[in-house]
Amino acid sequence: MSEFKRPQDDGDFQVNFTQLKPLMNATEAYYESSRCLFCYDAPCIQACPTGIDIPLFIRQISTGNIDGAARTIYTSNHLGNICGKVCPTEVLCEGSCVYNHQDIKPIEIGRLQSHATTQAILADTKLFEKLPDNGKKVAVIGAGPAGISAACELRMLGYAVDVFDAKKHPSGLALYGTAPYKISNDDVLREMKYLEEQFGFKTHYSNRISTREEYDNLEKDYDAILLGIGLGGTRSIRIPGEDLTNCEGATEFIETLKLDHINANIGKKVVVIGGGNTAMDAASESARMGAEEVVLIYRRTKLEMPAYDFELDLAKGVGVSAKFNVQPVEVLGEDGKVVGIKCIRMKEDYGDLIPIPDSEFVIDCDVVIRATGQDKQRGLLDVLSIKYDKAGRIAVNEHFQSSQEKYFAAGDAVNGGAEVVNACAEAKQAARGIHAFLNDK
Ligand SMILES: Cc1cc2nc3c(=O)[nH]c(=O)nc-3n(C[C@H](O)[C@H](O)[C@H](O)COP(=O)(O)OP(=O)(O)OC[C@H]3O[C@@H](n4cnc5c(N)ncnc54)[C@H](O)[C@@H]3O)c2cc1C
Ligand code: SF4
Repeated sequence: MSEFKRPQDDGDFQVNFTQLKPLMNATEAYYESSRCLFCYDAPCIQACPTGIDIPLFIRQISTGNIDGAARTIYTSNHLGNICGKVCPTEVLCEGSCVYNHQDIKPIEIGRLQSHATTQAILADTKLFEKLPDNGKKVAVIGAGPAGISAACELRMLGYAVDVFDAKKHPSGLALYGTAPYKISNDDVLREMKYLEEQFGFKTHYSNRISTREEYDNLEKDYDAILLGIGLGGTRSIRIPGEDLTNCEGATEFIETLKLDHINANIGKKVVVIGGGNTAMDAASESARMGAEEVVLIYRRTKLEMPAYDFELDLAKGVGVSAKFNVQPVEVLGEDGKVVGIKCIRMKEDYGDLIPIPDSEFVIDCDVVIRATGQDKQRGLLDVLSIKYDKAGRIAVNEHFQSSQEKYFAAGDAVNGGAEVVNACAEAKQAARGIHAFLNDK
C-alpha cells in the first residue's frame, strides 16, 4: 500500500517528490570532502564513464576552491550538475569508493559534485576559454545529453554549432524522463541555460528534422552533422487490449508527469509491466502520486531483472510490490477502459522461458503502464541511409562516425539506451571525432 496522498497542488507534489539527494550546505560539503582519502589510482575515477578527477575536485572543495572544483568536473563532463544528481552513483563512483571495503559509508561524490557545480551555475561563473572560431559549422540533431555535450565540446574547439530539437525544451530525457525525486525541472533547465550562455551554441527548439530534404539542406550548410536523437516511444508488446484507455507507455506516462505534475493520469491500482529502471521509476512515481496499490510484474526471476537493486529497493520503499515469473497475456477492459490484466506464470525450461499451463490469473487494476523498452529511430536512419545493427543501434566506428561520413552519432541512439553520463562521454568523443575528420587527422 502506498503511504502517499494524491497531490492536490504543486506544493504537495514537491513534498511527495522530495529530493533524495538534497544539496549540501558549505559545512556539510567541507566535512564530507574531508573524509576522502585522495586515493592513488582512485577507483572512483575508473568507475566514472567521463573519467572526472574525483579526488582532485573533492580536495578543491575541502580547501574552499569551489570554482576550481566546478572546473575540474566540467572539464570532463559538460553536464556535471545533472549527472551529480541523476547518475546511478551507487553502482558507479560511490559503488567503487574504497570505503565500501571497510563497511563504511562511501564518500557522497554525487552530492559533492552537485554542491560545486550548483554554486558555479548560480554565480554564472565563466569557467572556460574557447578556441577562436575556426570558420566551420556543425549541426547537432537532438538537444539531449548527447547533443548538448557535443555542442559544448565543439564550441570549445572553435566550431559554430546549431542545435535542433523536436521538443520545446532542451536536455531530452534528463528533463522528460528522469524521476522528479532525483532532479527538479528547474535544476535541469538551469544547467542547460548556463551551458548555452557559457559556450554560445545556437538552439532551435520545436524543430524536428526528419525529411530527406531537410537533411540535404543541412548537408549543404554544415561541415558535419551529429545525431544525438536518442530512442523513440515505448515499444508495443503486442497483446490484446494494449490500446485501451489507461494502458500507456512508461516514457509517455513519465513525460506527462514531469511536465504536468498533478495533472498526470494516476489510477487507484496500477500495474507496471517490466523489469528495467524505467519500470522501477514508473512504479515509484505512481506510488508517490498517491496510487493506492502499485504492482510490478516481470516475466523472469528477480535475479534476472535488469534494474539496479537500489532502484527496486526505492520502489519497494514507497510500497510497490513485485511479482516475478509473470507475463501479461491480455489487458482487460470495459467500456474501452482498463479494468484488469490477465497474466500467466512462467518458468525456465533448459534456458527457454515458457508459460506454465493453466496458470493464468487476473490482477484487477485501472491503469497499466508498459515499461517494455523504447523503439529505435529506424525510420529516420533509413531516410539517411545510415547503417544500424539488428537491435536498431546506429553503427559507428571508434570515432563515433556513422556509415555516412558526414554523420556522427552518440548517446542512446548508439548504445541502445544507457545513462546520461554515457551519452555525455560518447558525445565528447564524437565531437573530437568530428574535429579529427574535418582536420584530416
Ligand atoms: C524514464 C527514464 C528515466 C531515466 N532515468 C535516468 C536516471 O535517473 N539517470 C540517468 O543517468 N539516466 C536515466 N535515463 C537514461 C537517460 O535519460 C538517457 O540515457 C539519456 O538522456 C540519453 O541521452 P541522448 O541525448 O542520447 O537521448 P535523449 O535524452 O533521448 O535526447 C534525444 C533528443 O533528441 C531529440 N530528437 C529526436 N529525434 C529528433 C529529430 N529528428 N529532430 C530533432 N530532434 C530530435 C529528442 O526530442 C530529444 O530531446 C532514463 C531514461 C528514461 C527513459
Ligand atoms: S575512492 Fe573514495 S576515498 Fe578514494 S579518492 Fe575516491 S572518493 Fe576518495
